[in-house]
Amino acid sequence: MTHATREMFDQYMAPNYAPAKIIPVRGEGSRVWDQDGRCYIDFAGGIAVTALGHAHPQVVDALKRQADSLWHLSNVFTNEPALELAKMMCEATFAERAYFANSGGEVNEAAFKLARRYAYDHHGPEKNEIISFDGSFHGRTLFTVSVGGQPKYTEGFGPLPGGITHLPLNDIDALRAAVSSRTCAVIVEPIQGEGGIRSCTREFLEAARAVCDEKNALLVFDEVQCGMGRTGSLFAYQHYGVTPDILTSAKALGCGFPVGAMLTRADIAASLAVGTHGSTYGGNPLACAVAGTVFSIINTPQVLDGVASRRRLIEDGLQAINARYPMFSEVRGEGLLIGWVLSDAYKGRAREVLNAALAEGLFVLVAGADVVRIAPSLIVPESDIAEGLESLERAVASVYAAA
Ligand SMILES: *Cc1c(COP(=O)(O)O)cnc(C)c1O
Repeated sequence: MTHATREMFDQYMAPNYAPAKIIPVRGEGSRVWDQDGRCYIDFAGGIAVTALGHAHPQVVDALKRQADSLWHLSNVFTNEPALELAKMMCEATFAERAYFANSGGEVNEAAFKLARRYAYDHHGPEKNEIISFDGSFHGRTLFTVSVGGQPKYTEGFGPLPGGITHLPLNDIDALRAAVSSRTCAVIVEPIQGEGGIRSCTREFLEAARAVCDEKNALLVFDEVQCGMGRTGSLFAYQHYGVTPDILTSAKALGCGFPVGAMLTRADIAASLAVGTHGSTYGGNPLACAVAGTVFSIINTPQVLDGVASRRRLIEDGLQAINARYPMFSEVRGEGLLIGWVLSDAYKGRAREVLNAALAEGLFVLVAGADVVRIAPSLIVPESDIAEGLESLERAVASVYAAA
């Protein structure tokens, strides 16, 4: 095999990403090594995906054991790992039925189709309108970018699916005014991830629940990024105490193996009758064996209860850095989904902080141009947090000095 170099990306890959100059080759826990053997602390978690770090021994073992027994069947058959995962997810949540796919975008696509189909079955074809929110992100299929509230992701891809309205987040009056008898669903991320780590207020989610009940619309929570323990609760709806009708999960569910789940009640799931929807790989034994193991580890007090203390360590560290190099106005988000917001004087420089951190041996993320995003493993060791914060301080210092 040829030795892979970063130059090959520009030569052979579609140009829709702009990856870093280094190529990581190995990971363990919250550390990653590149081709030259340089070690990095990982505060990015593969964009809130590797919630148990890299190469977690039990997760690796689950994948290897399943790889030795059965990879794939198709949905002509069911399989044991899928059934076990569905049972676990239903027993731990409001849900009674699960549908599996391979990604967040796909389970959101399934959720939006189900919301329309349920309204069609129970109320007729006119009840098809979807309410969504500015800044939201739900995936990259045509339907999910259209429901998403970031116009840059639909530009040039029209004609787009219709019947979708976007409202400002946390505006209860606008929500009450917009939801009507023609609304089939309200779709919301309890904490917007890609949109800049913006939390919904509890009052807003409660109002969404009430207005959906009043107008017979379904409330859909996209927990692809904020679920699976990120807030310190298993799912963010439990953190907020507001129960949706449909919930989607992906990212951390597979800890890096592609898998997504849509959870809902039995009466709603009934509208996904035989033949209405499906996926070749969705619910595949390999993915479900990994997700079942991940789920059983994350859904424990040992993991969930550790989120708050790690949040405190990181948030205290960020405040201390900002006291010495005042570039930031606030720390946002819940649990280990953290947004560090640049103040007006430093707006637009989040990417510079990311690059400076990488140069100092630390992975962080951005969420838009003005927010540095931190989404580490839920079990990141305290010593790695301390070392990561030291690297981050050096990175912030260099951007501060250059400004
Ligand atoms: C990442 C993300 C998605 C899309 O998931 P993919 O697996 O990339 O399709 C959808 N919704 C939210 C909230 C996300 O963060």
